[in-house]
Amino acid sequence: MVRWMREAGLRVTVDQMGNIFGERPGAERLPPVMIGSHIDSVPTGGKYDGQLGVLCGLETIRALEQHGIRTRHPVTLAIFTNEEGARFQPAMIASGVMAGKIPLEDAYNARDKDGLRLVDELERIGYLGAEPCVPRPFRAYLELHIEQGPCLEEEGLAVGVVDGIVAIAWSRLTIEGVQDHAGPTPMRIRHDALVAAAEVVTGVRRIARELGGDVVTTVGNLTVRPNIVNAIPGAVTLSIDMRDPRDETLDRARTLLDRVVREACDREGVRGSLEHYWRVPYTPFAPDVVAAVERAAKASGARHRHILSGAGHDAQYMAAIGPAGMIFVPSRDGRSHCEEEFTGMDDIEHGATTLFLAAVDLAGRV
Ligand SMILES: [Zn+2]
Repeated sequence: MVRWMREAGLRVTVDQMGNIFGERPGAERLPPVMIGSHIDSVPTGGKYDGQLGVLCGLETIRALEQHGIRTRHPVTLAIFTNEEGARFQPAMIASGVMAGKIPLEDAYNARDKDGLRLVDELERIGYLGAEPCVPRPFRAYLELHIEQGPCLEEEGLAVGVVDGIVAIAWSRLTIEGVQDHAGPTPMRIRHDALVAAAEVVTGVRRIARELGGDVVTTVGNLTVRPNIVNAIPGAVTLSIDMRDPRDETLDRARTLLDRVVREACDREGVRGSLEHYWRVPYTPFAPDVVAAVERAAKASGARHRHILSGAGHDAQYMAAIGPAGMIFVPSRDGRSHCEEEFTGMDDIEHGATTLFLAAVDLAGRV
């Protein structure tokens, strides 16, 4: 990527978090229009998530060069470190530091499963840069990304004009039962933590059904102790992920979750402790950037509509420090974070053209 950026004539710099920036100067000394995404992935993930936004950003800059287009504002390509959080937690760690939401020291000390620190690994690969990783002014931040859901494809649309990113709430439930032998212990005296957990799993699904609308609820992680064939599970920890465009809906979902947990634990005679440990509110994108993306989608001839993002993106943190917006292109069968991830070239072309036109619009053609 960096070689391609240099070949495209960009001045490349790297910041303290390994974020890579390539600037194409503007006619005036103004804050840049920043186009960004990420080039990390998840294990056995696809090749479009993140990479497509970076490559379309590079293509935008190449097209500006090829057509001899000068802009008032510079146009900068940005590549953010460790967006997925597959190796170092939390996800979006580097845009989070840049937005001032995650302390640099905490990010540096994040360790992977082998105990290696992020800062040491950045140094080892030669990407521990000197530029301070702090909020930098920008005219607009634009990110093209695959939808990772089925809506655009179902409706035969090529481009989604993203209005914002849904609110997200994460909780952790620890259930303490009584570990005992699977043989001599009669059913009537059991306090099985996993049986209560199973009720919570289906109860969490029921919350989404009850509330309706766009809310989605997931139990994705379960740790069972001792997790062997012939013992009644004594303790279970599980994760709960709930998302909705409206913060009020998430408040109601949390109240329902409290009830689901209480009832499941009472029935089995076990103790549950529920921790609501992470919450991000709905992130609306900047109206002038969304309007520019919509104009660009229209001008590109793409069939398009407004859409919300159900997944977190670096654009979420960028929206905290400046005007940001996103462009979605369809994902085949709505699938991503898997090797089947695919977006057709026609759709990519419409998305890339939308990105190019929005960038020129916001950067101001000279
Ligand atoms: Zn991504």
